[in-house]
Amino acid sequence: PVVLGIETSCDETGVGIVRGNTLLANIISSSMDEHARFGGVVPEIAARAHLEALKPTLDQALAKANLSLKDIDAIAVTNGPGLGGALMVGIGAAKALSVAIEKPIYAVNHLVGHVGVDVLERGELQTPTVALLVSGGHTSLLLVRDLINDVELLGETIDDAAGEAFDKVARVLRLKYPGGPEIDKAAIGGDPKAIRFPRGLSLPKDMEKHRYDFSFSGLKTAVARWVEVAETKDEPINVADIAASFREAVADVLVTKAVNACLDHKVPRLLLGGGVVANKRLRELAQERCDAHGIELRIPALSLCTDNGAMIAALGAQLIMAGRAPSSLHFGSDSTLPVTTVQTL
Ligand code: ATP
Ligand code: MG
Ligand code: FE
Repeated sequence: PVVLGIETSCDETGVGIVRGNTLLANIISSSMDEHARFGGVVPEIAARAHLEALKPTLDQALAKANLSLKDIDAIAVTNGPGLGGALMVGIGAAKALSVAIEKPIYAVNHLVGHVGVDVLERGELQTPTVALLVSGGHTSLLLVRDLINDVELLGETIDDAAGEAFDKVARVLRLKYPGGPEIDKAAIGGDPKAIRFPRGLSLPKDMEKHRYDFSFSGLKTAVARWVEVAETKDEPINVADIAASFREAVADVLVTKAVNACLDHKVPRLLLGGGVVANKRLRELAQERCDAHGIELRIPALSLCTDNGAMIAALGAQLIMAGRAPSSLHFGSDSTLPVTTVQTL
């Protein structure tokens, strides 16, 4: 089936088109720049930006796929998790389209979309797989036995998301927003062993209840404290060392827990997703540790890792191919939609 996917859960307005497992178009418009001076995504601004960007993004996607609306067999849309108002813009547009072209609609889970995107590069999803999703809004470790029938949440962050930690620490270091790429740049030439920053929820006592959970707020505070102490003592601040050491702490804890999940569940695969996957050290360390344990590491192209409509279209196509009934027109947005709800009827 030819499926058009709409994604508006955060600051990316994404429209993607797939035919089965084949990617036809993936157009993304981001309101990132408009949030820069606030140091994080402002929900109201994001929602308004979606409203303005949706139509042009849709037109571009159709043009890129060389299709018109009458060629679309179904619409898929993210209905959660994400920012309520932002989600509603995409949902409203998707419902209107579905009614206008008289085609079924599928309300799908954003996080499962990040996992399912793999089919666009490799055909069928290889299962079981562990998936580590790391972005500005999420840090989740999933055990996927079957993309549409069996996705289990192993753990998640109990405070800040990984990307959020990058953004907040960048602010402490007086770097620009978004913080991830800035910290990657600042870390060049820095010594990752210069400062031993804390690895959240990694002590033996955490292993029972929080083996697969993450915590980054302590790390953020530790960096802020480090800078503060240096400043009161009038000592020079080595930004490269701090950035490299902070990045090392994040990458270490993410990869350690993801690899543990693979080993504990005897799963020989690890799939990464989310904007933080752009991080150089995370990619390097994940490859190193996966190689050491004979785990196959899958990192989708960056344009498919960050939020996009193609992953939503791909998940819609998977549901259709599995014979799932479409959603009704009555679903709403659910900012805390659990990962176990792949489709909302
Ligand atoms: P959601 O959480 O709903 O998926 P999001 O918009 O927060 O949405 P993305 O757009 O996938 O997520 O990712 C943005 C985040 O990724 C930001 O927090 C940004 O700092 C982080 N990021 C981007 N590049 C890097 C990098 N090189 N290293 C670390 N983090 C990065
Ligand atoms: Mg984003
Ligand atoms: Fe996302």
